[in-house]
Amino acid sequence: MPGFPRLKPSYDFVVAGAGHAGLQAGLKAGLLMRTACLLDRGRKYSRSYYAPKMDNIPGFPDGISGHALLDLQVEAVRRLESRVGYFTPARVTAIVREGEGYATTFEWLAATHTVRSKAVILALGVVDRMPEIDGKIDGIFPWANQALVDFCLLCDGHELTGRTVAVLGDDAFAARTALDLFDFEVASVEVLTFGRPFLGGVAPAERAALQSALDARGVRAVETPVVGYDGLREKRFGVRFADGTTRTYDRGFSALGWYDLHQEIPRSLGCAFDPDGYVITDDDGRVLSASTHEPIPGLYAAGDLRNGWNQIPEAWATAERAVIHAFSSYLD
Ligand SMILES: Cc1cc2nc3c(=O)[nH]c(=O)nc-3n(C[C@H](O)[C@H](O)[C@H](O)COP(=O)(O)OP(=O)(O)OC[C@H]3O[C@@H](n4cnc5c(N)ncnc54)[C@H](O)[C@@H]3O)c2cc1C
Repeated sequence: MPGFPRLKPSYDFVVAGAGHAGLQAGLKAGLLMRTACLLDRGRKYSRSYYAPKMDNIPGFPDGISGHALLDLQVEAVRRLESRVGYFTPARVTAIVREGEGYATTFEWLAATHTVRSKAVILALGVVDRMPEIDGKIDGIFPWANQALVDFCLLCDGHELTGRTVAVLGDDAFAARTALDLFDFEVASVEVLTFGRPFLGGVAPAERAALQSALDARGVRAVETPVVGYDGLREKRFGVRFADGTTRTYDRGFSALGWYDLHQEIPRSLGCAFDPDGYVITDDDGRVLSASTHEPIPGLYAAGDLRNGWNQIPEAWATAERAVIHAFSSYLD
């Protein structure tokens, strides 16, 4: 068990959030002989922590869990501990521009700390919205943890070929997800709206187009409220409805979007957001200003927080780009 890292007053980089993107940023900074302070709330807040098997990670032909991959990334960072501090559980509460650099405030070991840096990399990720029953989300976790409910088409679509799938959601995104699943040659799809009217808030023309495409695929929506889940032991996604009926699928697929896009800190720094709510960066990971649309000096974003595809290789690539740009531009 490693001891606590020693906090220095200032670093070349502060990395806010140390999931796959933030850990890669820390690794690259250390390899480039720069110092970095990685601040992470905890691995269980990384999106991939509950992914039992990921198949697109280079070097792991049999797949690897998100949990195991994070462990390996942490191990690599800890080997550079003379330059890279990995502080967890540490929650970043504020980042402000100060002179040529930044001051980052965070909670760690029951105290508030402020650390300074020349550059900041925002790698806070995003948080999936979970299906609720009676206002609680706990019910879904056993099924999600066993990958009987998926959250990411790009990640897990290939696992759904030949399977019956229940899409969880009621809006246009849920409808489009249901249609996109057929690219992966699923056996059948139903949409479970959890008691809400299907496509209720969607404009009539779009609703008609979606409904016609769904009809052509034989996709129907079940609008009865859900009261519970079954089938874990049989490795199936069983759903109990308020009217006493049950339905069983091979898999569930949550199409509920994001619970938290972690916009608060980026907004306080004047970052621009795209229409979906992601931080906008240029190709070097530099965050663009909402007012000028020019890069904000020394401020970068990597991983799911920024506009791009929410995938781990993308998190790594955007982290590398950000660090290399700062290395060649700010940190002489
Ligand atoms: C079920 C599931 C399966 C997936 N499967 C795959 C797959 O097979 N292949 C693939 O490529 N991708 C997959 N993904 C997507 C992948 O998990 C994400 O693209 C990846 O985790 C993004 O990395 P990130 O570092 O941007 O964010 P995250 O890994 O989510 O890390 C963000 C980090 O920020 C920290 N944080 C947040 N707020 C604060 C704060 N205020 N202070 C300090 N720290 C903070 C959190 O603790 C967290 O560790 C999957 C996602 C899910 C949900």
